[in-house]
Order: sequence, then C-alpha cells, then structure tokens
Amino acid sequence: MGLARQANKIQTWTKLLGNERKTCSGASNLRQLKGRLCCDKLKTKPSSERRRKQVKVEYENHGHLPFKMEFWEPLNWKKQFELIREMRSGRDAPVDEMGAEKCYDTEALPRVRRFQVLVSLMLSSQTKDQVTGAAMQKLRAHGCTVENLLATSDEKLGELIYPVGFWRNKVKYLKQTSAVLQRDFGGDIPNSVEGLVRLPGVGPKMAHLAMDIAWNQVSGIGVDTHVHRISNRLGWFRRPTKNPEETRKALEEWLPRELWSEINWLLVGFGQQVCLPVSPLCSSCLNQNICPSGFPKCSARTPGARELPLGGARGEKCNGCGVTISIARNSFKGGPKKK
Ligand code: SF4
Repeated sequence: MGLARQANKIQTWTKLLGNERKTCSGASNLRQLKGRLCCDKLKTKPSSERRRKQVKVEYENHGHLPFKMEFWEPLNWKKQFELIREMRSGRDAPVDEMGAEKCYDTEALPRVRRFQVLVSLMLSSQTKDQVTGAAMQKLRAHGCTVENLLATSDEKLGELIYPVGFWRNKVKYLKQTSAVLQRDFGGDIPNSVEGLVRLPGVGPKMAHLAMDIAWNQVSGIGVDTHVHRISNRLGWFRRPTKNPEETRKALEEWLPRELWSEINWLLVGFGQQVCLPVSPLCSSCLNQNICPSGFPKCSARTPGARELPLGGARGEKCNGCGVTISIARNSFKGGPKKK
C-alpha cells in the first residue's frame, strides 16, 4: 500500500475514534489503529451486550468437586400420561363425584370450607370414596364446623362417620384436630404442610391435597395407594419405590410441577376404573402396549406363573388379556414348586 494511501486511511480511522481519541497514542500503523478502534467499540457497548454467555461447566466427581446432576425421566411417560388423560376424559370415576373436592359446602364460610376439605381427607384414608361421600353428607347435615364437632359426643360422631375405615380412631383424631384448630388457628386450618402434618391423623398426602384444594397452593404431589401402585406399574422410577412417601419424592424429581395437582385425581380415577389393585383391566387399557406391567396376573402369557388364567379353558381366550390359554385350567397345579 502506498504511503499516501495508508496516511489517508489512518486519518479516516482516527476520525471514527471520535474527538477525545484524535491522537490515538501508540497506534503507529493501520493494523494497530483498527485494533484500537475495535477495542473502543467494545468498550462503548452496553454492559448487557458485553456480558459473556454463561458456559455450563460439568464436573466429574473426584471426591472434592460437586456431582454432575443428571436429569432423568421415564421413557414413555408423556405418551402414557396422555393416554390416561384420554381414558379419564369422561370424568365418571367415584373420585370425580365424591372426592375431597366435591365434599365441602360451597356456600359455607371460607374457613368452614377449608375445615370440611380437611375432614373429608381425614375420613378418606383406607376408605372408598362412596363411603367417605356418604359420611360427609351426614356430617354436613349435622353441621361440619370446628365448634359443632367439638360439641358433639364421641358416640354421636362415630354414628355419623360409620362405616369409614378405622372410624373409632378417626373420631379421636377429628376431636383432637378440632381442638387444636380452635385453640391455635382461630377455627381455620394451617396454611402450610408443616402445620398440617402436626395435626393428629394428618399425613403428608392429606397435607399436600389440603394445600391444593383448600388453599389453592401446590406444595407437593398427593400420593395415595393408587398413585403409588400405578406409577410403579408404569415403570416411572429407576427402581421400584416402597411406600407412598418414597413415591412422592421420586415423582417430584422429574414430573413437571404444573402436573403435580392433576396427577392425583387422574391416577386415582384410573385406579378405580381400569388399573385396579387386583386384576387390572389391561385388555381395555390404552397403555397395554407400552406398560411394562400389563397383564400381571395372567398365566396364559406366562404358563409357569403361579396364578391361574383370568378366565376360560385351554384353547379359549383369556378374559383378561385375550391370549389363547395354553394350559388346562384343571391341570394347573399352582406353577413350579420350590425345590
Ligand atoms: S396395562 Fe394394565 S397394569 Fe398397565 S397401566 Fe394399563 S391397566 Fe395398569
């Protein structure tokens, strides 16, 4: 490049640097000047633009560095979830008619409504929704408020809630809980899981459901026997969980929070109608081809199993799964004997 042309370019770049930088000390040639201009341009950028992209650093564990936290989710859960939604679209399971969301008096004062939600949850443990619903109707007709329950004799309360499961214990818990609510919470129920689980007869499942239904706050997944059983049957955990509380923690690790409220009523109704505790109706389940536990009781598929086919004789189709039965019902000796 000729000297005159280079001098011309230096003049142009110097102008670009602005009035305060006319001299550009230290820039003895065009390359240095360009570099300086680029630096100055960078310096004048707003801080948000200059901020470097966060680089995610993943560590291997060498005993002193944090573990790399891997996100895990079950393979087919979205498809399985969608299909259960489809099977539940009729909303005609007992929980839809008589669950805790349907048992309180919508005309009552807010604190009374919340108390009734808690009472119905306490009654529902180890009890069918139909029985809980009937007991709640009798209680509401009697007057289901903290004050009224405290003024009711144990005998009368027992008559009102009978035949819910463990009704004698529940009479005791209802009385004790009502006394705590009147003394410490002005007749209302606590608005935290910690406060709720301190009440006699209230466990984590009831606490999370009460937070959701009574306070409209999702604090965790309400895991009952249906949610525990079905999520394990569907293979939603890396290893089977042993109890509902373990299931809750394992589910909350991967299930999106926006589904925490829905999953309870979804699986409870599904467990009442299709994925029954004993002899689930796998042949009418939309998940039968992607469920690892489909047809669990049918020996037509596993002739060595200890259970009898769900129905039919040799050569006929099993009532449960539709597979042709390969062993004679009367020759079934209960499967292989232990040596
Ligand atoms: S296939 Fe059977 S075990 Fe699996 S979700 Fe359906 S009903 Fe339950």
